[in-house]
Amino acid sequence: MIKTSFISKTVSELKPSGIRRFFDLAANMEGVISLGVGEPDFVTSWSVREAAILSLEQGHTSYTANAGLLELRREIADYMHKSFEVTYNPADEIIVTVGASQAIDIALRATVSPGEEVLIVEPSFVSYAPLVMLAGGIAKTIQTANENEFKLMPQQLEEAITPNTKAIMLCSPNNPTGTQLGKEDLIKLSQIVKKHDLLVISDEIYSELAYDESYTSMAAIEEMRERTIVINGFSKGFAMTGWRLGFVCAPADIASAMLKIHQYTMMCASTMAQYAALEALKNGGSDVEEMRSSYRRRRNYIVKSFNEIGLDCHTPGGAFYAFPSIRLTGLSSEEFAEKLLMEEKVAVVPGNVFGDSGEGHIRCSYATSMDQLQEAVKRIGRFIEKYKVE
Ligand code: PMP
Repeated sequence: MIKTSFISKTVSELKPSGIRRFFDLAANMEGVISLGVGEPDFVTSWSVREAAILSLEQGHTSYTANAGLLELRREIADYMHKSFEVTYNPADEIIVTVGASQAIDIALRATVSPGEEVLIVEPSFVSYAPLVMLAGGIAKTIQTANENEFKLMPQQLEEAITPNTKAIMLCSPNNPTGTQLGKEDLIKLSQIVKKHDLLVISDEIYSELAYDESYTSMAAIEEMRERTIVINGFSKGFAMTGWRLGFVCAPADIASAMLKIHQYTMMCASTMAQYAALEALKNGGSDVEEMRSSYRRRRNYIVKSFNEIGLDCHTPGGAFYAFPSIRLTGLSSEEFAEKLLMEEKVAVVPGNVFGDSGEGHIRCSYATSMDQLQEAVKRIGRFIEKYKVE
């Protein structure tokens, strides 16, 4: 009999993601409207799919360079320049990765030494803290608040920094709150980051889905390019989640450290997906614009409707999530999500899975059809009438 656990100490301490439990529950029920899933409801543009098919027909079936096709890295450099006014050298400052997920992983592993702290702004995307732990670092959380529309306040950042702090993870527009940090917000945060000589890992995966304000990359803020790792990719803006393609832009010394890990663990991202991404960047702009307008309409509808039925919901600047408060019910976010699923067959994600300050909220993805959203609002309204205590 085996007496020793073969699982590493670090991994046995990791908690599984709280999001999946609700998907599994919902998957076994009929007639469920899901506002749970964090991915676009669009199919990837046909021209992008066609470019992948063509690459196969032409026999492009081998590995690419570790960092990705040079042609794609050139296109990414061009995109970064045109969209955000930041210049990167395709030769040694850009790596094509297996989704933004892998980019975050290698960014952390390449920069964090054992025992160093990485600041995580909660409510936060669920993978940051586990990936910091896997990199040997310490995830230190900062809690943002609804009354500040879940923006990180400069004072909070200042207070969280210790001599052991190495980096801060930022995500704008944010998953799960949809909050976008504008240029002024970034400037204020950057002053503290520079003062304490920190690194920023800036997850900009939702940058194409910014509805009100034009998007500013952290790397575009004065003197920040040299201390910022930009994470981005094709999953959200280009509706390409299943292709597993992302990229990272960083100063050459950091990019070369990340490339070491990437070449040993991945070799390179999928070749076919890289050809597809090339087409997405070259000619995908108008489709992205159409998707963005469609999400904007749905955002406007859901935020207005939630507030009308009594759920206090700030207007998220981007991504495709609304993050309303459910305090008027007195239910915990887990209770709310579970009862809503069982009684009204609407799946949402309880806010507590995104960190302590997510409690009292639910994450609702509006990347689903208008008909479904209208029906979901009707059901949630009925549910609120039943449970409101205020
Ligand atoms: N960052 C954030 C904030 C996300 O929401 C997601 C996807 N849910 C990712 C990264 C990962 O994206 P990808 O599909 O490119 O790995």
